[in-house]
Amino acid sequence: MKIIDHISNAKGKTLFSFELLPPIKGQSIKGIFDAIDPLMEFNPPFIDVTYLREDYIYKQHSNGLLEKVAYRKRPSTVATCAAIMNKYKVDAVPHLICGGFTKEETENALIDLQFLGIDNVLALRGDARKSDSMFIPTPNGHAYASDLVKHVSDMNKGKYLHDDMDSAEKTDFCIGVAGYPEKHFESPNLDTDFSYLKLKVDMGAEFIVTQMFFDNQKYKAFVEKCRAHGINVPIIPGLKPITNSKQLIGLPKIFHLDIPLDLTNAIQACSTEKQVKEVGIEWMINQCKELREMGAPVLHFYTMGNPEPTKRIAQAIF
Ligand code: FAD
Repeated sequence: MKIIDHISNAKGKTLFSFELLPPIKGQSIKGIFDAIDPLMEFNPPFIDVTYLREDYIYKQHSNGLLEKVAYRKRPSTVATCAAIMNKYKVDAVPHLICGGFTKEETENALIDLQFLGIDNVLALRGDARKSDSMFIPTPNGHAYASDLVKHVSDMNKGKYLHDDMDSAEKTDFCIGVAGYPEKHFESPNLDTDFSYLKLKVDMGAEFIVTQMFFDNQKYKAFVEKCRAHGINVPIIPGLKPITNSKQLIGLPKIFHLDIPLDLTNAIQACSTEKQVKEVGIEWMINQCKELREMGAPVLHFYTMGNPEPTKRIAQAIF
């Protein structure tokens, strides 16, 4: 079922969902099921599976020479989605990225998804490879998420890349995109970022999932600004509790967000990592209670494969 239908069927009740990463190459799918099982009691109508682009690694040969090889650490987004749908009978939402795909490969991937019965995709540009200092589009691939959204929308209208196909079947994907309450880090300012978010919605995106945030006022302001810009699709807050003190530095560095002073002070006052985790979970429970009062359609958790903190939060909320 489409995410927008799950939301409208809920008639204003806040839903629970989460995101996880596909297994590292060489690991079994069991790890994914172990990360999902403890969260199923909260009835997630959908589960997101991220996509990791290939990166370059250096292999040393016996003669000392280094060979640069392309390597995908977590290769199985689509298969992980299929396994989740098969086992749990819930919708799985694959993240689809521009990086690493030609337009032709994107189109073929979407045909695979359609045949697997996947109804939703989260269309993203994708992160830069670790070995690159900035995002480099694949030759003949999409450069921005808005281009990818347009491609999926075109297929939803029966328009494929090669218009020599007569009577091509229309796909019927519900398309989600990313939004950044604290601005995407490459954008010169929030308003410019908003104009591109609006473009993604104008191209056919039907829901937005936000980057994580720790101050609900940022979400509130973001929703208000979206509405003022004519962006009227559901806006799903993306959430992640702080569980260790290193994240005070790591999360702002990686995700370009602010951690509120009160939360920072509370974490700095802890004398053990166990206490830090309790502070992080308590903060997130309070955030979730307020977000539900604000009418957030879904509380969507970035579990990173560790269900325990999310389970504790969900127990307090749902
Ligand atoms: P875009 O919407 O394309 O925006 C990228 C930047 O370009 C922004 O600064 C924007 O303002 C600007 N821009 C957009 N359109 C134009 C234009 N036409 N002209 C000029 N500038 C423009 N990454 C992964 O690799 N895999 C994942 O699974 C993944 N999942 C994610 C899930 C969520 C909910 C979120 C919030 C992020 C996720 N990411 C993932 C990270 C994401 O790929 C990065 O944040 C990436 O840098 C931007 O992706 P985007 O889709 O927002 O890009």
